Amino acid sequence: MIIAIDGPAASGKGTLSKRLAAHFGLPHLDTGLLYRGVARAMLDAGLPLEDAAAAARAARTLDLATLDEARLRGAEMGEAASVVAAVPSVREALLDLQRRFAADPRGAVLDGRDIGTVICPDADVKIFVTASAEERARRRHRELAGRGEAVAFETVLDDIRRRDARDGGRSSAPLRAARDARLLDTTALDIEAAFRAAVAIVQDTKAADVPAG
Ligand code: C5P
Repeated sequence: MIIAIDGPAASGKGTLSKRLAAHFGLPHLDTGLLYRGVARAMLDAGLPLEDAAAAARAARTLDLATLDEARLRGAEMGEAASVVAAVPSVREALLDLQRRFAADPRGAVLDGRDIGTVICPDADVKIFVTASAEERARRRHRELAGRGEAVAFETVLDDIRRRDARDGGRSSAPLRAARDARLLDTTALDIEAAFRAAVAIVQDTKAADVPAG
């Protein structure tokens, strides 16, 4: 079973995907980490993020096994990732790696922006996780405060809006819900309620797939 989870920054899709993967015993790939890894490689090499040819090279040589999640987290890397993610040749270079992950015989959970639309258009289950920009900013603000990073709420909200605009407005694989995705709005849900709703969507979809007789 392939579960495709898409949604905007700080919608809760990462936590949900991890929990769904654990619940259904599936491997999980957070595809945002790939774009963050490309951005990190560019910054480490002192290259401008806008250098499309260098970014595509960094994407082609990206090694999943060496991605250091702790170094890639954080709003700044998210912002940098969304710049390289708008480069079509970067997306092209990361396509195979993601499809190979999804081809695992056990199935997989992948989360990102274009999993249901581009990477796994035939996924068994597609969920598009959303929440209002204000609620996402509140969550991100709380998370940053928890890590001791004092950032003004308005700054976090501006970042979220800018990232939404860049991810939704780019010409290559813009952030969109697939036509056959189920929408999960987590604005008024805590993580437990969101998780239960996501499990129900997976179970509903699987039940609907069982051949009659
Ligand atoms: O999900 P996360 O915040 O880690 O993603 C960082 C950035 O990487 C996103 O803002 C988006 O621009 C890009 N991304 C993407 N396609 C994906 C996953 C992430 O374009 N499948």
